[in-house]
Amino acid sequence: MINRRHSRVIDVGGVKLGGGNPIVIQSMTNTDTRNAEATINQIKSLEEVGCEIVRVAVPDEAAAGAIKKIKASINIPLVADIHFDYRLALMSMEAGVDGLRINPGNIGSRERIKAVVDMARAGNIPLRIGVNAGSLEKELLAKYGVSAKAMVESSLNHAKIVTDMGYENIALSLKASSVLLTVEAYELAATACDFPLHVGITEAGTVRSGTIKSAVGIGIILAKGIGDTIRVSLTGDPTEEIYAAKEILKSLGLRRFGVEFISCPTCGRTEVDLIAIADKVENLCSKLNKNIKVAVMGCAVNGPGEAKEADIGIAAGKGYGLIVKKGEILCKVPEEKLIETLMKEIETL
Ligand code: SF4
Repeated sequence: MINRRHSRVIDVGGVKLGGGNPIVIQSMTNTDTRNAEATINQIKSLEEVGCEIVRVAVPDEAAAGAIKKIKASINIPLVADIHFDYRLALMSMEAGVDGLRINPGNIGSRERIKAVVDMARAGNIPLRIGVNAGSLEKELLAKYGVSAKAMVESSLNHAKIVTDMGYENIALSLKASSVLLTVEAYELAATACDFPLHVGITEAGTVRSGTIKSAVGIGIILAKGIGDTIRVSLTGDPTEEIYAAKEILKSLGLRRFGVEFISCPTCGRTEVDLIAIADKVENLCSKLNKNIKVAVMGCAVNGPGEAKEADIGIAAGKGYGLIVKKGEILCKVPEEKLIETLMKEIETL
């Protein structure tokens, strides 16, 4: 059981972050935001697989101009990612975004920052301050070098500009592409403030390597009880980020998404095409919304014992397989009927 850090609660378009609320899964589109239709289609795909907050880059006025249309066509909170240009932040809020990712220290004069903060306050729109190890301020780099201290100080400096204006509706992120540096930065930030933390490893890599790197980094941070929302950053289809995020949260017992699936790695005792069976069962189970554990095991020797850990499972042997339900062997069925019988029995649970 993970003891989660106590953080204050913020509300991103109806989704609550922090304060013991479920850890929220985010992603970011990689379409051109100016192409509203493509962006809406991608967000819909993300919604379908379980994305709970989505962020879009707003690099120019045309992108900000597309927000209204995008917002009207989607069902999850929308966050605008702004660098430097405060007018784009104002335009995005006017168009109805539910959150801004913006670093107040980078948007210029106090008047400009105040304009953004006042508008955010009027709409109760949270700001996420996102510090990246690759773009720290020169003074902090001179003081600490690229380090967790520099990252945390940078984020708190940005936050202070806003809290000094009496606005505390803030989340922080402190990302680096180094797992250990990121972990250290989140540990430091977790004790230095009570803002909700958005956790991720930046520039993690492609779907295969980036998923593993993110699972290690985000997993370590979450296991320490730190983190209120996560984004897995992958060079690939953003829906992959959602699958990865769900698996990370499931592995730590922090969230449950439908059926929990386990399967053995196969070995010299396996006499059936267990990989195909496991793929098929996992795919069928991913469509079910049941709070159960399903096991697929590759032999009648160890399989039934291991499958007992699950609510239901199969131990597949040559030409036949055993269905194990709630710790008991239920029946022996021919191999070709194994998946069908298993799925029928799952329905009864
Ligand atoms: Fe091998 Fe059986 Fe264990 Fe699977 S359950 S790894 S087939 S011994």
